[in-house]
Amino acid sequence: MKLNVLWMYHDVMDLYGDRGNMQVLKKRCLDRGIDITIDTCGIGQEKTIKDYDLLFIGGGADREQGLLYDDLVSRKQDIMDAIDAKTFVLLICGGYQFFGQYYIDNNNNQMEGLGIFNYYTASDAKVGRCIGNIEIEATLDGQTINIVGFENHGGQTRGVNHPLGKVIHGHGNEYQGGYEGFYNGQVLGTYMHGPLLPKNPQVADFIITKALAKRYGEVQLAPLDDSLENRAHEVMQKRMAGG
Ligand code: GLN
Repeated sequence: MKLNVLWMYHDVMDLYGDRGNMQVLKKRCLDRGIDITIDTCGIGQEKTIKDYDLLFIGGGADREQGLLYDDLVSRKQDIMDAIDAKTFVLLICGGYQFFGQYYIDNNNNQMEGLGIFNYYTASDAKVGRCIGNIEIEATLDGQTINIVGFENHGGQTRGVNHPLGKVIHGHGNEYQGGYEGFYNGQVLGTYMHGPLLPKNPQVADFIITKALAKRYGEVQLAPLDDSLENRAHEVMQKRMAGG
């Protein structure tokens, strides 16, 4: 089996080791004999996104986001074509914000988003930044799981009609907002860095399965030994529970 990934803005959007997500996908695929290719796409580089099974964009500071949003918006049709062609999309923080209507940064600069979804994001000096470890309960296509990570964002995302999950500890889309991220079956956006996938092997496998579905339909992944990953997950859970 083959899995072709496009990692967009790999050289600009890489906060808190978001690149670790790509390393995890690679390892978990190779361990199972899945022939994974991770291609990158920088600002101005030509790629046909619908040719890929998975599109990934990481997070970035306001400055980095300011460098690329024009380039991203110019690819709107290509991204819509990819979504139509069943490319799965994983977005972290800054990348997640840009699939909504707009992002207003800490200096009150408004950056246009792709406008693919209704949500919108604005920094709000009154409430401050959402920073710290975060734990949520998410239901991914009927499977309820616990996800841990780390968030650091000034942007408050509102108008999310399909959140990824309910916050157990931390903030999520808004300061003490109760809900985190976005998931509609094909696009998963989250504020969770950490990076997301090393401590959440179930999410990693979910994403591999969703991306493989484009070419192969429903696929059963061979189980891997996740004892170390699960321990890392439990340590974070305990820490957040104060134990
Ligand atoms: N710059 C954005 C914000 O502060 C995104 C930050 C991030 O990707 N962690 O909201």
